[in-house]
Amino acid sequence: MVIKLDLISKRESLGMTAHHPRWALAWKFPPEEAHTVLMDVDWQVGRTGTITPVARVAPVTVSGVTVENVTLHNPGEVDRLQIAIGDKVKIVRRGDVIPKIVEVIGKAAKTDIEGRIHSDGSKFDEELPDYSQIIIPNLCPRCDTNLIQDGAFIRCTNMNCPSRLERTILYWARSLELDGIGEKLAQQLCSEGLVKSLPDLYDLEISDVSNLERMGLKSATNVIKELESSKQISLSMFLSALGIPGIGPELATSVANQVTSIENLLYLVNQRNENIDENNSAVTQLIEIDGIGVKVANQILDGLTIRMDTVKKLQAHLDIYSESNPLSNGSLSGNTFCITGTLTRSRKEIAHLIKSNGGKVVGSVSKNLNYLLAGESAGSKLENAINLGVQVISESQLNEMLEIETKAANVEENTQKSLMDF
Ligand SMILES: [Zn+2]
Repeated sequence: MVIKLDLISKRESLGMTAHHPRWALAWKFPPEEAHTVLMDVDWQVGRTGTITPVARVAPVTVSGVTVENVTLHNPGEVDRLQIAIGDKVKIVRRGDVIPKIVEVIGKAAKTDIEGRIHSDGSKFDEELPDYSQIIIPNLCPRCDTNLIQDGAFIRCTNMNCPSRLERTILYWARSLELDGIGEKLAQQLCSEGLVKSLPDLYDLEISDVSNLERMGLKSATNVIKELESSKQISLSMFLSALGIPGIGPELATSVANQVTSIENLLYLVNQRNENIDENNSAVTQLIEIDGIGVKVANQILDGLTIRMDTVKKLQAHLDIYSESNPLSNGSLSGNTFCITGTLTRSRKEIAHLIKSNGGKVVGSVSKNLNYLLAGESAGSKLENAINLGVQVISESQLNEMLEIETKAANVEENTQKSLMDF
């Protein structure tokens, strides 16, 4: 992953256009470039502890958008560009792609920052900064932990780093579609000491949240309600929402199907870590999954190991249920579903459940749709489905459809066991 990102940024910066002749690219996404000045560099700590240099530039309009911050990706990029604070730089933006600094023109003059306007329309009135080298930090800008080098990247390894914690909370909230928990609230919860690790979210009370600045009783109640409703969670959702590097929603589903329960998974992790398992069955089991090799398997197991405390505490708060069967022969295989209205679980979670049982989830109603899953206050989709004669089902009917499969699977398992006994 690390290598891939680096290669892409290198390729782009070299101006290579892998598959398209230059005119085709220009036709589709006219690139626009502009000059500005590097004012300063902020070092931002991400969810996995990666520290990213973000260039703060004098406001500049590229492809109709005012740009004031541009990512420099990693210290390697800073090195490659040979860029310094106070340099005049060339920024390019292709279509909707995020803008990037592609070239250093040389030391900026006073005139290079004159007459510039912020995106909110106010005047940019900063002085030209002192010309200086960009200093790559040794310590985390947020928690002062010694940083480690990881390929082209630098990382904070402190799992309780406030920046990492904020990002972890946000990732959890976004993965589980918890409305009302955004960047600002995540920051407040951490800076007020209300949340010191992810599981603390589930100890929050309405009054904790309503006392925070800019939060009222109504939004606080909503946040707690959202958290309450996320307590029943499938293993695959749980694994992907933890934000372990290398394990996105798709792989999380495969891992959940392979290990079948959180208890099994943790057992495997412990066996591996205590070195009592000569066959290394943790890795062996994971590499049976399509798309997981030894490296990713270890990445997942390491990711769980350093989060073990968090996982165990979350386990105490949550009801982590197992998905039944692998994709190909799930009870819903061959059927498409569309989801609408308010349901007891998040749409994302239900979509996960349908997919892990072989069904397909689509975003709109057509006559090819097999089922519309409609919750409370369903609107135009429900109307459409009725008009088109698509079968409409409730959440409990979906549950029934899934239970049939679970029973069938149990029978099969029992039969196999009894055959083994003989
Ligand atoms: Zn840190």
